[in-house]
Amino acid sequence: MYNKVIVAVDFSDSSRRVVDRALELVGNDLNRLEIAHVVEPIPTVWGMESYSINPIDLQNKILESSANLLQELGDKTGIDKSRQHTLLGTPAVKIRELQDQLKADAIVIGSHGHSGWKVMLGSTAVKLLHGATVDVLTVFIPEE
Ligand code: AMP
Repeated sequence: MYNKVIVAVDFSDSSRRVVDRALELVGNDLNRLEIAHVVEPIPTVWGMESYSINPIDLQNKILESSANLLQELGDKTGIDKSRQHTLLGTPAVKIRELQDQLKADAIVIGSHGHSGWKVMLGSTAVKLLHGATVDVLTVFIPEE
């Protein structure tokens, strides 16, 4: 059995299904499961200072609401707050960094997320599979 598994969620409708599969993979041992969501940085563009929205404030608000959503999912599935990770950056890069940091030996992701079925396999899934140094389980998400 795997020692430490990271399940990556994007809060799409299929997230619960992905977490449930990850729980099965660790034999429902919650000490072996970490859950992660990555917030992508808001691009700052030239002339943005003339808008009333401060991109840093907006970024922080998104991080905060993502942490709340992750906590909701954690509460529903029993994953403790200490095992919930809300990160800022490129999803595949940050998940791989977390994998190194936690010495995780497997990653669980959905085959498709918000990017939907326009592509054969979601872009985060493809990026994580390329150059993976641990097992990556893609949970099949049927087309709606
Ligand atoms: P996508 O590549 O967007 O179709 O998403 C495929 C899967 O990658 C999703 O089901 C999630 O498991 C994972 N994923 C996508 N975006 C994120 C994100 N921002 N943070 C964490 N996991 C993500």
